[in-house]
Amino acid sequence: MNNSINKQARIRYRIALDSGKCPKHPTVNVVLDKTQCRKCIEIQRIRAKRHIENGMCPSHPSQKQLPGLTTCILCRKSRQRREYECIIRGICVNSGCNNKTLDGNHTCPIHKWYSAAQTAGVTVQILDEIYEEQNGRCILSGIKIVKGVNASPDHIISKNDGGLNTKENIRLTDWMVNRALGKETDE
Ligand SMILES: [Zn+2]
Ligand SMILES: [Zn+2]
Ligand SMILES: [Zn+2]
Repeated sequence: MNNSINKQARIRYRIALDSGKCPKHPTVNVVLDKTQCRKCIEIQRIRAKRHIENGMCPSHPSQKQLPGLTTCILCRKSRQRREYECIIRGICVNSGCNNKTLDGNHTCPIHKWYSAAQTAGVTVQILDEIYEEQNGRCILSGIKIVKGVNASPDHIISKNDGGLNTKENIRLTDWMVNRALGKETDE
């Protein structure tokens, strides 16, 4: 008896999805991942918010949050397992990124370039502009620099001396050259 109810539920679920409707709210169209509607997503958002406010993990509501985080030990373990598998396969550890990494790196050049911009305190667009203006070469040595590989942002006036995170105050150098300068690098 139970089996046939389950079977019917599965069929209803399938029919709803095939017609682009939410299985739980059959009058509402599905969105995004194509299995849920906006109502479902809103309900989940509210539920997650309540768990977070109660100090519990939104993905594992029976688990307490780790200190300073909104996620739990199970989240951390599954992230570590995923990262480990990425490292073994030579793939970027950023979730959803399947780009290959260069030897000795845990993230791909695209994500490394992204973090370089973040560390330098500018947007990727600004860093791209600086790169174009320097014709893809280290401003100090003329060595060819590659984004996310050896291109290293450098504050012309260092942040310690009051230098700002502005396009005018940032230049791109080969990271070895930058390191050889012996000043505090951005990387
Ligand atoms: Zn729904
Ligand atoms: Zn969790
Ligand atoms: Zn990546």
